[in-house]
Amino acid sequence: MGALEQTDPEVAAIIHNEEERQRLGLEMMASENYTSVAVLEAVGSVLTNKYAEGYPGKRYYGGCQYVDEVEELARTRARELFGAEHANVQPHSGAEANMATYFALMKVGDTAMGMNLSAGGHLTHGREVNFSAWLYNFVHYGVDRESELIDYDQMRELAKKERPKVIVVGATAYPRIIDFELSRQIADEVGAYLVADMAHIAGLVAAGVHPSPLPHADVVTSTTHKTLRGPRSAFILCREELAQQIDKAVFPGTQGGPHMHVIAAKAVCFGEAMKPEFLEYQKRIVENAGVLADELQAQGWRIVSGGTDNHLVLVDVGARGLSGSRAEKALGAVGIYANKNTIPFDERPPYVGSGLRLGSPGLTARGMGREQMRTIARIISRVLENREDEKVQVEARRKVRELAEAYPAPGITDRMAVGA
Ligand SMILES: *Cc1c(COP(=O)(O)O)cnc(C)c1O
Repeated sequence: MGALEQTDPEVAAIIHNEEERQRLGLEMMASENYTSVAVLEAVGSVLTNKYAEGYPGKRYYGGCQYVDEVEELARTRARELFGAEHANVQPHSGAEANMATYFALMKVGDTAMGMNLSAGGHLTHGREVNFSAWLYNFVHYGVDRESELIDYDQMRELAKKERPKVIVVGATAYPRIIDFELSRQIADEVGAYLVADMAHIAGLVAAGVHPSPLPHADVVTSTTHKTLRGPRSAFILCREELAQQIDKAVFPGTQGGPHMHVIAAKAVCFGEAMKPEFLEYQKRIVENAGVLADELQAQGWRIVSGGTDNHLVLVDVGARGLSGSRAEKALGAVGIYANKNTIPFDERPPYVGSGLRLGSPGLTARGMGREQMRTIARIISRVLENREDEKVQVEARRKVRELAEAYPAPGITDRMAVGA
C-alpha cells in the first residue's frame, strides 16, 4: 500500500479512479497527452520542497546548487531543441507565459492583434473574459470563410489599420500549417513584434514536422504538456536582446518561486524530445490525425478546412444538426474523450459550439496506428449517429475498452506494474 493510500485514502481513491478513466478510455483531447514515467517521477520529486526565486546563479534563497543545475539543464536543452538564443523555463502555464510576454513587450493599453477564438485563437489572445483583453486593446484576424485557412490578407490589412505593437500567431483549434514567415513579413511592414504561441504544436515543431516559428518570431511561447508530452507547464524562447525583458517579466514581474519539480520534468521532456523515437512519434501523430480525418469524411462528416496537417481534426458536427456539447457528451458516455469547440463563423456560443475537436497525440503515445484510427473513427461516427440507441452504446463501450486494454497508456500501466 502506498503512503497516500495510508494517510489519505479519500484522495488516493480519487486519483485511482482518474487513473482507471485514463487507462480504460480513449483520450482524444487534442491538448492532452500521457507523459512518460520519467516525467511523472520528476514531478513527484522532493524538488517541490525548494524555494528558488530568481535565476540560476542569482537566487534570493540559499541551498540552490542542485536546482540551479536542473534549471540550467532545462534551459540548455530547450535552446538546443528549438535552436533558440534564450530560454525561460519558469512559466507555470501557457497563459502565464503569454502574460509575461505581453508585459515584456507592451504597455497597458497598447494595441495587439491575435486570431479570434471562433477561428481557433486562445483565450489569452484577447478574448473579452481574459486579462489580455482587460489590459490591452486586442483586435482580431480570422480565417477565410471558404477555405477556412488563416486569412493573411486580412491580417495585413488589419495590421496596417490598427498598427499593433504585437502580433500573436498560434492557435488551439487550427488544423493547418501556420505560415510564420508570412506573419513575420506582415509584422515587419507595421513594425510590430511577432509572438508565436506554439502551445499545441511544440512537439511537431521540435521534430520538424511543422515549420518552426524560431527564425521568424521575436518571442515564442509554448506549453509542455500537449504534443510535447511533458509536465503541465510552459516556457518562453526569444532572441538574446529580449532575454532580460522576458526574464524580468516572468520573475519578479508575474510569478514568485519557480516550481523546481516541474522544471526538472521539463528538462526530462526536452531530453526525450531530442531522441530519434520522438521524431517517429510526431510523424505518426500527424499520420494518425490524417487517417482519422479521412475516415470521418468517408462516414459523411464535414471536416473544417477539409482535413488536417497537424495533430488535430475539427469536425463540423453542426452540419449534421448536432451541437459540439451534445457530441462531447455522447462520446464521453462510451469512454472517448474529446471536446466541443467553436468552428469558424460559428453561430453557437463557445460553451455549446458546432465543432468537435479530436486529437491524435494521446492515442499515438499508446502505440495506436492507422488501423486503430479507422476503427475509432467508425465508432465515433456510429455513436454520434445513434445517440439514443442503447445497443450501439454498449457495443461501442465494449470496443473502446478492448482497444484501451490492447494499447496500454504509457505512465499509468508502467507505474502499476512496479506497484507504485
Ligand atoms: C493551451 C494553450 C495555452 C494555455 O496553456 P495553459 O497551460 O492552459 O495556460 C495558450 N495558448 C495556446 C495556443 C494554447 O493552445
